[in-house]
Amino acid sequence: MADVSIRYVKGVGPQRANLLEKKGIRDLMSLLYFLPIRYEDRRVIKSIGDLQYGRKQVVVGEVHKIAVKNIGRRKIFEMILRDRTGYLSLVWFNFEYQHMVKRFRQGLKLLSYGDVRFYNNLAQMIHPDIEELDQEDDNSLSFNRIVPIYSVVEGFSQRVMRGIMRNAIDKYAQELIDPLPVQVKEKYLLPGLQEAIYNLHFPGNGLSMDALNNRGSIFHKRVIFDEFFFFEMAIALKKQSTMKKNGIIFSVASNDVVKRFEKNLPFTLTKDQRTCVNEIFKDMSSGYPMNRLLQGDVGSGKTVVALYAAMLAISNGYQIAFMAPTEILAEQHYKTIGNLTKNMGINIALLKGDISNNERKQRIDELSNGTLNLVVGTHALIQPDVKFKSLGLIIIDEQHRFGVMQRMELKKKGNNPHTLIMTATPIPRTLTMTAYGDLDISIIKEMPPERKHVKTYLFYRDNQRQEIYTILKDEMKKGHQIYVVYPLIEESDVLELRAAAKMYEELKFVFNEYKVELLHGKIKDEERNIIMNRFRTGETNMLVATTVIEVGIDVPNATVMLIEHAERFGLSQLHQLRGRVGRGSEEAICILYAHGFTKDSKKRLSAMVKTHDGFKIAETDLEIRGPGEMLGVKQSGLPDFKIANIVSDVDILKMAKEAAFDIVSGDMRVDKEALYKHLYDSYKKNVSFIEV
Ligand code: ADP
Ligand code: MG
Repeated sequence: MADVSIRYVKGVGPQRANLLEKKGIRDLMSLLYFLPIRYEDRRVIKSIGDLQYGRKQVVVGEVHKIAVKNIGRRKIFEMILRDRTGYLSLVWFNFEYQHMVKRFRQGLKLLSYGDVRFYNNLAQMIHPDIEELDQEDDNSLSFNRIVPIYSVVEGFSQRVMRGIMRNAIDKYAQELIDPLPVQVKEKYLLPGLQEAIYNLHFPGNGLSMDALNNRGSIFHKRVIFDEFFFFEMAIALKKQSTMKKNGIIFSVASNDVVKRFEKNLPFTLTKDQRTCVNEIFKDMSSGYPMNRLLQGDVGSGKTVVALYAAMLAISNGYQIAFMAPTEILAEQHYKTIGNLTKNMGINIALLKGDISNNERKQRIDELSNGTLNLVVGTHALIQPDVKFKSLGLIIIDEQHRFGVMQRMELKKKGNNPHTLIMTATPIPRTLTMTAYGDLDISIIKEMPPERKHVKTYLFYRDNQRQEIYTILKDEMKKGHQIYVVYPLIEESDVLELRAAAKMYEELKFVFNEYKVELLHGKIKDEERNIIMNRFRTGETNMLVATTVIEVGIDVPNATVMLIEHAERFGLSQLHQLRGRVGRGSEEAICILYAHGFTKDSKKRLSAMVKTHDGFKIAETDLEIRGPGEMLGVKQSGLPDFKIANIVSDVDILKMAKEAAFDIVSGDMRVDKEALYKHLYDSYKKNVSFIEV
């Protein structure tokens, strides 16, 4: 594509180029890809006399009269349009009529599109879409066809925008090089790129309006496919490059450490857990570095699966870095690992942010001289001074808290170490295909035996508080413990913090024969751990907390989760919180107390009541929030797709992924020249992404 500035496109010029730039249209490419947001059916221009009631229609006429009328206290702006067959009234309510009065004048030629009513026997359109037509203009772009409507660009009328697009396309679209191999287009029935761009802006009259307006035409399919395809190509190449690296080969056969660990376990693995362990062992003995995502609902028992991998690494003389997102979680993992590996002679340490310099130095020495087998920690593990003698395995818990870069930093501390990533909540398949596309995936579907569903209740009336308190009291009488969660948008928000503290005071008062404690992000780590420990040991009956307890905390004796202002939480957050209870053999309850709804929060809360399946919840969450919000686009490495939508275009996503992986593996033989050039050009600004 010629490297001309858009200001040289006929009809643009320097001033308009600036305005376009404000809209993010900087070059010819982005101009050609500035696709219409919808299309209007102007294939048939009606005569005013032929207008039919109750249908959207287009007429062209001349302004006959302009009037501002008072109707009661409201002002309306009315224009009467005239053609050879009659008169049509165009009406705007509550409009900036002064602006309208200035904008229009008698004799102006207008096109008007809208729903037709009749009022006092006069045909009428209320708030129609109108366009001024120049007398001398060649108006063939604006009617007698399906007309593209663009997102508003300040200073441009639709008519001007269309004219510019037409000029740009006529002159430059033919220079577009189609990077997609013929074989791919044939297999997936995709049109050529030039044809697609042309038809997206100026669709042929035979196309279906529905398909166009729902992004369902084959031309839409083509550009959506492209976006996914080049992304998946990058992922496939990245994956291939990992496969070329040498991984540490761990010997699995008759492994004593693993056997002793297994013997010590207070339970037997579920079938799914067993399968996951096997998949992981296979990776770790394959000669390639493992890059695996371990998925499983809250409480499905991911930690123990990860520990099998750790045992394998230890028995082969390698070290493990186990990274968790919070101090509380890291501490908990440290304890769990200690318990499960008792008397095995394994050296474990916790590397926290708040330890003394001396202690820290000692830990780091032990890591670099190989005394320590396994270290648990938070981001503290990424610090440059942390060095390992032989780092063989990285375990990352609750992945979505960490960015791609942090994963990479940790990997650099070993020589192609194996990596196992665990997720806090299940990730919808569409997201694993994109954001996590380069990872292999293991899934734990079944829960450990005797796990019961957490009964979930939704309360939303102010006078239901007593009822809730009765439930809480009954449970505490049985010796069970309770979480009360209060939302803080920002852990630093003073007002919110005060609200949580007030809640705590009330609960302390209501349940004065029990021990109630408050935990929030402002409390210092040391203090926080003490509070957490008192809850863990059962000394505290009720823990009032902000979301600091959200991930991973494991206290089996806790049976009630009360969530205040449940409407403010996101769906996966709610699911995570619910997962804190029902971890023992007792029946557990989750109470969602909502104070007012929005449409989305209603959807979230009813999804919580209806289903316990984390995978289903994740799908619903994705539908409500969209992928960017759900993962945090920057964090996840997921590109900001311009046209494609990974939820609604999942079928195209599957095709694109298949095509990309088939090409990289050589299963599909194609001419790669244009393809690789395009890949290189579009990602060269973003090389780190391919390298990760
Ligand atoms: P998550 O997948 O949410 O990280 P955890 O690894 O914390 O779950 O496990 C939740 C609880 O289930 C832990 O107390 C763990 O000891 C227990 N657990 C794990 N696997 C089994 C099993 N196969 N049978 C019984 N309990 C199990
Ligand atoms: Mg966990």
